[in-house]
This record gives sequence, C-alpha cells and structure tokens, in this order.
Amino acid sequence: MSALGDEISAMIASEGPITIERFMELALGHPELGYYMGRDPFGAAGDFVTAPEISQMFGELLGLWAAEVWASMGRPRPLRLIELGPGRGFRAAIEVTLVETSPSLAEIQHETLLTSGVPIEWRATLAEAPEGPAIVLANEFLDALPARQYVRSGGRWRERVVRVDKAGRLEFGIARESEPFILAPGEEGEVLEVNPTAHRLVFELAGRLVRQGGVALFVDYGHAITGIGDTLQAVRAHRQVDPLVDPGEADLTSHVDFAAMARSARAAGAAVYGPIDQGDFLRAIGVDARTRALTERAPPERAVEFESARNRLAGKNDGEMGALFKAMAIANRDLPPPPGFEPDPARP
Ligand code: SAH
Repeated sequence: MSALGDEISAMIASEGPITIERFMELALGHPELGYYMGRDPFGAAGDFVTAPEISQMFGELLGLWAAEVWASMGRPRPLRLIELGPGRGFRAAIEVTLVETSPSLAEIQHETLLTSGVPIEWRATLAEAPEGPAIVLANEFLDALPARQYVRSGGRWRERVVRVDKAGRLEFGIARESEPFILAPGEEGEVLEVNPTAHRLVFELAGRLVRQGGVALFVDYGHAITGIGDTLQAVRAHRQVDPLVDPGEADLTSHVDFAAMARSARAAGAAVYGPIDQGDFLRAIGVDARTRALTERAPPERAVEFESARNRLAGKNDGEMGALFKAMAIANRDLPPPPGFEPDPARP
C-alpha cells in the first residue's frame, strides 16, 4: 500500500472507521502525501487530461466568454478574475486571483504565468480572494471536493465508511448508526451522495456575486438531475483503479450534482443558468468558428489536430466530452444571461 494508505490504516486502527468525505480529503489533500500536493497530474505522462490540456481553444473561448460577461457587467475596474483549482494555469487578461490548495501546482502556475504580464496572486481558499465584482471560472474543480455517501440498509440510510479488514487492507463498510434526518426514499443497497463542501462553496460564492456583482462558470463531469448512485472514482495513468488501493497515488473524484449546486446558488439569491452539455456550450460560444479560423492558418497536420480537439471537447460520441461534461453559470440577478446560456426560468 502507499505511504498514505499505511497512515490511513493506522489512523483507522486507533480511531475507528472514517467517512468517505474524510478519506477523499486525505487522499487528495493530505499536506505531504495527498494526491494534489506533490505532483503535476495532467497530460499524457500524468493521470488524466482536462479540457484546457486538450486544446488551447478551450481557454481561448472561456477568455472570450469572460470578456463578454465583463462588458455585460458594465466593464467594472478592477475586474477580479478568480479561478478555482487552476491546474497548470493558463493565460488570462486581467487582475487574476488563483485559488489553489496545492503548493506544487501553485509553483507550476507561477512558472506558466510568469511572463503573462498580468498581475496574479494566489489564495488557498475562495474566502481569501479580494472583494469586488468578479468573474469566477472553475473547470473540474467541484468534482475534487470531498463527498459523503450513505447506503440504504434495513430501510434506513447509514453513512458509508472506510475501515480496515483482518489483513490490514482498506475496505468499505457502513456505519452502525443510521441518519434519521435523510428522508429520501431508496432501495436496499442504493448509495446516496451529498457534498457539503461543494454546497457551502457554491452558497458562499453565490452570496458574494449577489452582494458584489459577477458571474461564475462551473464546468464538470456530472449529472443535471439529482440521482442515486455511487460515483466515487479513482483514476491513475488514464485508467480507473480501486479507490482504496494506494490512496494519494490516484486522482479521486465524484460526479457533480448540478441540481443540488443550483439549489444552493438559488438559496443564496443568485440566478442559475444551465446546466447544459459542454458541447452545446462550446458551440454556442463559437468553438466551430474558432476551429475554422485556426485550421485555415495552420499547416495540414496541425489543422487535423484542431478538428480532432474540437470533436473531443464538443462531440457527443463515446470517448468525447461534449455530453458527459456540463456547464452551469450562477450570477447576480441584475445581469443578463451569460453568453451561451438561455434565460433562467426561475428568475422573475
Ligand atoms: N482547472 C484545471 C485543473 C483541474 S484539477 C484544469 O481544468 O486543467 C483540480 C484542481 O483543483 C487542481 O488544481 C487542484 O489542486 C485544485 N484543488 C483541489 N481541491 C481544492 C480546494 N479545496 N481548493 C482549491 N483548489 C483545489
């Protein structure tokens, strides 16, 4: 087992089983051994590939999107561009705050953005980001926040935990105590996921947008309607692996429940747009025109790359991201729908 696996099993042996939420927090964010703490997980040589890593077009289109949103806000100065979980970091054009927990990724972001000519600062949490009207971007961020799981057992919901088996290996179990406050129905054995950290973050962010102005865009792997099911997933070297084997060595995510996030945003008084398929969002904000412009100027082998990147980002076939990933915006209610989205049906 990984060093972190050993540490977690020692912790469980002395203190008892831990929740999935705690396990995910440790696997991703343990200060020395957590997955995001000491590595660059992206790209072909890493564990997974994200949209901005597939093609420059993704970042360019979000940059254009942000510029249009800024215009719709009346061009406030200074504009805060806040990115949650920026990964390797890509170029943007204003006063930028990057919210990043990982020191090693912050280092990479530093190097990438050193020559951008844009003032950039780093913060570990959204609450520490400077005040004022803001445009907030978060690609594959919410899926990294720690989820809780409950299993239907004997007509009740009991929390799913990680414990140690007789051989000292980590295994899933369920808590003895049930949760009388979860009233959702369920069939025996079904799994219910809740993400309190994501709820709190979206609620806090929506409150900020209501008070100080601005728009946030979330793009992530997830479902538009709250459903039942275990979506905890570990990925290492581009393959799904057992989440309990070698914690700290694999990326760990759960699907984003966009309907639940929308409820939090609305509860804080923000308007909600979408979620819509990533493919529809990218098409609406010009991925086809951008692909054409780039292919016309590129040598033939590069032209093919732009076409295939466009298909991978916006296509809806197997292996493409266009339908699996969703985009959702939350905004101050005084602003018009952001580019790419229809009006909020719940907005009076
Ligand atoms: N947006 C990038 C990276 C996605 S991976 C891209 O699309 O390529 C998730 C990112 O979120 C990483 O940068 C990770 O270090 C960061 N992260 C994870 N949990 C976080 C937290 N609680 N607060 C801030 N950043 C976090």
